[in-house]
Formats: sequence, structure tokens, C-alpha cells
Amino acid sequence: MVGLLSLAAAVSLFIGENLDAAAIFVVIVLNALVGFFTEFRAEKAMEALRSMTSPNARVIRDGVPSLINAEDVVPGDILLLEAGDLVPADSRLVDARNLAVDESSLTGESMPVEKDTKVLPLEIPLADRHNCVFSGTAVVRGNGKALVTATGLESELGRISTLLGGVKKKRTPLEEKLEKFSRHLILLVGAIAGLVFAVGVLQGRGIFKMFETGIALAVAAVPEGLPFVATMTLAIGVHRMARQNALVRNLSSVETLGSTTVICTDKTGTLTLNDMNVRLVLPVCPSSEGALLRAAVLCNNASIDGPVPIGDPMEVALLRVAKEKGVDPASLRQSYPRTSEIPFDSRTMMMETQHGAGTAQKGAPERLLDGLEYIWAEEGARPLTSSDRQNWLEEVERVAKEGMRSLAFAWGTEDGPLAFVGLMGIIDPPRPGVKEAVQACHEAGIHVVMVTGDHLDTAKSIAREVGIHSSRFPECMDGKALEMLEEKELFEKAGKVSVLARVAPEHKLRLVQAFQALNETVAMTGDGVNDAVALKQADVGIAMGIQGTEVSKESSDIILQDDRFQTIVKAIDEGRRIFGNIRKSVLFLLCCNLSEVFTVLFALVFRLPAVLLPLQILWINLITDVLPALSLALDPSEPGSMRRPPMERSEDILTPRHHRLIFSYGTLMTVGVFSVVLAAFLCRPGNLENATAMGFHAMV
Ligand code: ADP
Ligand code: MG
Repeated sequence: MVGLLSLAAAVSLFIGENLDAAAIFVVIVLNALVGFFTEFRAEKAMEALRSMTSPNARVIRDGVPSLINAEDVVPGDILLLEAGDLVPADSRLVDARNLAVDESSLTGESMPVEKDTKVLPLEIPLADRHNCVFSGTAVVRGNGKALVTATGLESELGRISTLLGGVKKKRTPLEEKLEKFSRHLILLVGAIAGLVFAVGVLQGRGIFKMFETGIALAVAAVPEGLPFVATMTLAIGVHRMARQNALVRNLSSVETLGSTTVICTDKTGTLTLNDMNVRLVLPVCPSSEGALLRAAVLCNNASIDGPVPIGDPMEVALLRVAKEKGVDPASLRQSYPRTSEIPFDSRTMMMETQHGAGTAQKGAPERLLDGLEYIWAEEGARPLTSSDRQNWLEEVERVAKEGMRSLAFAWGTEDGPLAFVGLMGIIDPPRPGVKEAVQACHEAGIHVVMVTGDHLDTAKSIAREVGIHSSRFPECMDGKALEMLEEKELFEKAGKVSVLARVAPEHKLRLVQAFQALNETVAMTGDGVNDAVALKQADVGIAMGIQGTEVSKESSDIILQDDRFQTIVKAIDEGRRIFGNIRKSVLFLLCCNLSEVFTVLFALVFRLPAVLLPLQILWINLITDVLPALSLALDPSEPGSMRRPPMERSEDILTPRHHRLIFSYGTLMTVGVFSVVLAAFLCRPGNLENATAMGFHAMV
């Protein structure tokens, strides 16, 4: 566009229209300035957003653990690391429990690396420094403590990035679509202007006059304001989404959000309140209740000693119930100091702790019972038979059918082997408003799937309550069933799936890929360490701001600050609104441009004096068109926008319907302009200047 305008300025200069040339030059500079400042402001807004989503780190300072911005970590800090954390700085481990780190970003090694605190020789390759962790890598298992040795550009990652130089900015699909669109437009305009010029000159109309007309045509047809109107619309939209607790990390996902057809959502905390309460305490026999509560307190990382409970809400609920039943967590933990831990992992769905000779386990009942050989009985531990297993799994099913999450516990000491001691049933009610939001999704043609690590029956019961599971979406399965399905069967069932339970991360991945193979646009939530792959694979990866690990946030496109399902639905609505508004701006600008082209051509064909001069056209395009187009960026969503099916992903900015609209509005505006010119000419015959000025004002 700048090239086209420069050419117009040069031609004007050549034919002696110095004023025009100067004005066009001013316009070029102005345009560049406005463009720069809108981009600059949009960029600033994005930067502000990015700093809101920047990772955190846990460090020990002045002897107390505190959560700080990862940027503020300095050498000498003691880092606390656990599964799901991004390592914020290079550090030497001083404590490592079952710690494994994914260093693929640094070394390219895809398998997690086991870490320990052993002393190593000084000269040793990076990949073998098992007593150190490095900035930019991710903790996938275990926990540990480390002393920070290098940060920023001094770190191993920093050195690589200095080597690589800056990262190139990625263009969004929307920007690409707009760019392609502009290129076509300019080619078309150039061709028409050239043709008109040639025909006019052949008809003997004078080269200068035809030059002027050619320039006017070219200037008329190009929507000069479009690039920054589009940028502003996106920036304003992203800002509004941030106010509604959806932080956009990746601009292009705004557009993708609007065409989302499937949402795969977490259950705990997103659809439910994550306000856990133990409803059912089921010891295997009266004498095992003590052991049950002991396991619940010891195999537990939460704390209710402070003014506010700290830790996983489910573990907090376990401590509360123990306290209600007369077990004091603090003193119990003192008499059984913890010697080691195998942390909870969403693959094993279990956790285990050692307390000297005592062992405590808790986890998903199927998994726990599978691994146990003994069951507590009045007369002491006895072997667990398959009928015991059967009975207890039936009990679990009964509990699950009531929508409760069940958890099994085991306890063992040197006096008796590790034995199953009982179950607990935990309720976690659905969030208010989720049901309505699910219904809104269905009205908007969006399929909602619950994806959870919980028991199938628990998941199903909650899914039914919030309207995800219904006769329209009857298919429920667990991860194992998903694994058994052939590709073809999966494709057949995918459209009707409402619940996928007891999932491992790879099941999430398979589900996303199946939907994508069926041409769906998938938004997927995730919070765990292992969700990163599925989040990256999904068209829109959504991480949880509160519950989510740093790793999941890093792999996501959008972060929900409040973890709520409703926020996803709002963000989708916003995505649809933004795309709709950009479309409106384009439509509006092009109607104006087309009517200008028509006006110039009409005057030419009927040998009228030029109604619009190039300068006037520039004025209209840059001043009187841009502001109304910008106001369209603030337009609220269309009343029925969430009652329509999602837009096709490949759909262009302008469809044939829009082309027809542009043509008819453009024609209508041209007719209006010439009616005014005609009326003015009839009122003051002979005053041409008056008539063309009236035409210009009519066009404005
Ligand atoms: P969700 O999709 O609901 O977040 P999770 O992966 O957190 O599912 O949990 C899956 C299952 O693992 C739960 O149903 C429960 O049986 C078990 N579980 C969850 N948290 C813990 C924990 N901290 N310790 C032991 N077992 C757990
Ligand atoms: Mg969870």
C-alpha cells in the first residue's frame, strides 16, 4: 500500500500537482505513525498480559517458603521443586526425592533424567550433571531442594538463547488472511487502474487526466485503515478476555476459540467446586478405623495447622475428618516422622509414604487393591482374596454412583504387612452455573466432554447432574476401554462421548487426535505435569491458573485465572465476537472503497468532471472511515452469537454472501452520491465546483 501511494505521489509530482504530491506524502507518514502506535500499544498490552502469566517459583527466604515471580530468583536462593514445576534457574541439588526432570528443551533427550545429590567430577558434560537442574527444564516426578547457581543469560539455557539470538514474532492466521487479502486487492486494483488508463488514453482523453483518474482509482480501492483496525480489534478483545479471567498467551488462539466445536474439560475444580468433604468413612472392620485415619493423615501433604488450610483440597478434607474423629494430625505426624515419599502421580493414581517401619498408601481403589496382598481383619492381617477384591470394588461402585469420589487406604508396620484398611467417600459438588454454561455450549453447537482421572461412575453421576451426560451424548468410557477401541470404532463413538474417566495423559492425546481427525476444532483443559502434550496437540490448549502446574501453563494457549468452566464459554463467546467485529470492519471499509471506485468510474464513463479527487479519497479512507471502523471493534456480541453453530475453521473473512452485500451497499452509496450531485447541479446550474463538493460531502 505504501508503494502504491508513493507511486501516486511520484506521478502527481511528475504531472505538476505538487500539492497533491505533498499531501499524499503526509498521508504516507501519518499512516506509518498511526500504524506504528497502534501496533506499539497492542504490543504493550500483550506484554502486560504476558507478565501476568509469567511463571512463579517457590523459594526459601529467611527460613520460610515463599512464592515469588520466577524472574526474581537470584543465585543463593534455595528452590523448592516438585512435579509440574518449571525450573527457573540453574541450581545444585541439595535434596532429591525420586526426582526426575525432563531436559529435552536443553539436551534434546526425550526421556526424563533421574536426579540425585551425589558429588560429581568438575569436568562433565551437561547431560550427565545429575546433581544439578537447569533453567527451562521441567520436573516430571518427585520433589527436591536446590541452591541456585546461575540465572538469566548466565544459565545454560541463557547461553543457548544468546547464541540463537532473538525469537521471530509469529503471525496469526488472521493477519495472514488479511495480508493475502490485501495483496489480491492491490493486484486487482492495479490491473483495473492500468486498464482504465489505457482505454482512456486510446480514446484520446489526455494522458494527465487519465493519470489522475488512475491514481484516484488505486487510492479509492485500497482500505488504508484495515491493518490497524484489525490489530486494534484483536488487542481490545484480548484485553477484555483478560478482564474476564481468560489470559491469552497466543494471539492466534482467539480466532481458533471462536470456531471451537469440542471442549474437553477437566472435572475437579473446573466443573466442580473443588470444595471436598468426606461423607463416608468405611473401615474394613471396626478395629481398622484407627489405621484408616492414620494412613489418611500420614500419607498426606496438606496442612490445617495455619489460619488457612494449605495443600490439595482432597487431602485437606482427609485431615478434617481425622480431626473430627479425634485424631490430631500434628501430633500423629510427630510420632511418625516421614522418612520417604512416592508422590501422587496421575499415571499410578497412588501415593505412598514411609515412616520408619510404617508404610501408608492411598489412591484410586482399583489400583490400590490390585497391588495389595493383605486385608486388615479383627484377628490381624489376612490374605486378600479375589472375592474380597470383588466385594470392595462393588462397594466402590455404589459409592461412585452417588457421585462421590472414593479413595482406598492401606497401612502396614513391622508387626503386620501392608494391608487394605478401608475406603473413604468424598463429595465435591458441581459449581453453580456450570449446568447453564453446558447448556449454552450445546446451543452454540459445541460438544462438551468430561475428561477426568476419577472413577467412571463418579464422573458419570456429576456429568449427568451438569447436563454433559444425556441421551444425546450417551457414550461413557474409561481409559482402558478407549485403549481397546479400534480407530474406526473410536471415530464412530467420538461424536457421542460425554465422559472419559480414569484417564492417563496418553488417553487425552488420543481423544484429541480422534476429534481432530474428524475435523473438529478441539479446546482442551489440563493441569498436570503430563498434560503438556495433549495441551499442545489441542487446537486451543487451556491451562488452569490456580490448580495448574507451571509446565501445563507453559504449553497452553490460554490460562483460566479462576479455573472455571464458565470462563471457557465466555472466552469462546468473546472469540466469536472478535472475529465477527473484524469481519464487520472489513465489510464496512470495503463498502466505502467500492462506492469510491464506482464513483470514479461512473464519472469517467459519462465524461463528468471528477467528483472525488485522490486527496479527497485519501481523506475519506483515513479519517472518516477508520474511526467508525474502530468503533465496530467495541461492538457487543450479536444477540444470537451463542445460538449459532461454530464457524468453519477454513472459512474466509469474506464469504460470497459478504461479496454480494458489499456490491449492493457500494452501489447504493454510489447512487446516493450521484443523486446529490445531480440535485446540486439542478439547483445551481453551471456551478460544477459546488456539485462535486456536495458529492464529496455526501460520500463522507
Ligand atoms: P481429576 O481428573 O479429577 O483431577 P486426578 O488425576 O486428580 O483426577 O485423580 C485421579 C484419581 O487418583 C482420583 O480419583 C483418586 O482416586 C486418586 N487421587 C487423586 N489425588 C490423590 C492423592 N493426592 N493421593 C492419592 N490418590 C489420589
Ligand atoms: Mg486432579
